[in-house]
Amino acid sequence: MKKIIIAVIALIMSVTAVFFVGCDGEDKKYFEKVSSYSFWDNNGEEAVAQYKFYEVMDSFFSEGEIVDGSCIKDGKTRKILFVGMDGVRADALTNIFYDENDFDTNGYNYPCTDYSGINAVKSEGGLYIAYAGGEKGKDSEQETSTCAGWTSELTGAWHTIHGVDSNNDPKNTNKDTIMLKYAKLGLDTGLAFDWGQYFDVTLREEVSYLLANPETPMLLRDLDRPVAQSLQDIVKNEKLKDEEDILAKDIEHYNAVAMKNVGENAEYDVAMKDYLLERIEAGDDFVGGIFHAPDSNGHTYGFSNEDNHYVNSVRNSDAYIYTLFNTIKEREETMNEEWLIIVTADHGGSGKGHGKQIYEHRTIWVACNRKFDQSLFGKGYDGYREAE
Ligand SMILES: [Zn+2]
Repeated sequence: MKKIIIAVIALIMSVTAVFFVGCDGEDKKYFEKVSSYSFWDNNGEEAVAQYKFYEVMDSFFSEGEIVDGSCIKDGKTRKILFVGMDGVRADALTNIFYDENDFDTNGYNYPCTDYSGINAVKSEGGLYIAYAGGEKGKDSEQETSTCAGWTSELTGAWHTIHGVDSNNDPKNTNKDTIMLKYAKLGLDTGLAFDWGQYFDVTLREEVSYLLANPETPMLLRDLDRPVAQSLQDIVKNEKLKDEEDILAKDIEHYNAVAMKNVGENAEYDVAMKDYLLERIEAGDDFVGGIFHAPDSNGHTYGFSNEDNHYVNSVRNSDAYIYTLFNTIKEREETMNEEWLIIVTADHGGSGKGHGKQIYEHRTIWVACNRKFDQSLFGKGYDGYREAE
């Protein structure tokens, strides 16, 4: 009897092992397939760690000299546009780029050159395969989640330094975002998102700093948040059960990122586009904003090229970025400005979620209107971690 039990256990274990290996194999195929798209300007082994996007932005500003609240280099005013496309998988880009290998194109294989922001940005610089989630199995491993992802990109570090591993961790006070670093030096900076948790939890201490130092020229804005008069207002606005569920430190912190006038389209990405245009026109030096609909549609309908809600939200935000791109081009021609543009994702997704250490969640991408120096490329990246 004992032998039979052992044999049954052994059988179950081997079947389970095959199952897990099988899953990993399928998942690995995703990384291999995505690495093979012809539109990247690097290869899978050279995938760029997401925290390195910060270095690109930081060196762009630090090459110039900050004079009277402007960053000047060779007589031109340097500015940065940082645009996030939340939860846009690497394979979602096959909906807007031509892939000469014709993999996985969902019957659609031509570049949207007439209306694609990412195509326009890449045409001046590059488009790179990249990764979120730290080095799997090492100290730097972090959730492929929204707060960890954007914080790595905006601070230039993994959670081991910035402290944000999950959506519930406040960022360490000794690691400023690029917005705060340059606002302290006198540049006008800002970040807009319609997901309040990022400001109420992750950037809580930066909100505290701005409240204590109101002369700092930095605007954090939750586009669909009206000013609250009471804690009950917050409960109502955020659709919470009771006051205990409020994430903001207090009403002052809540209102510090609120909008005086919430537009009627505030919950849609078109409001983000309009707000970013407004900040560009207002003369900000660092304009940051995150398009949220791809992630929201992913959570509701699925992070998949087979889902029209997901695919359309990717295409919509890409088209909005085209408008931002053209506005910036016009300013460069007429106003003696020089812009760095970064467009990127925070994590991928699968099914209706993300956050795990799998290729579909870890693999992301970044477009920049300047070529990335090869020193930014990963070395021997295998989809989980770089070579030792
Ligand atoms: Zn996200």
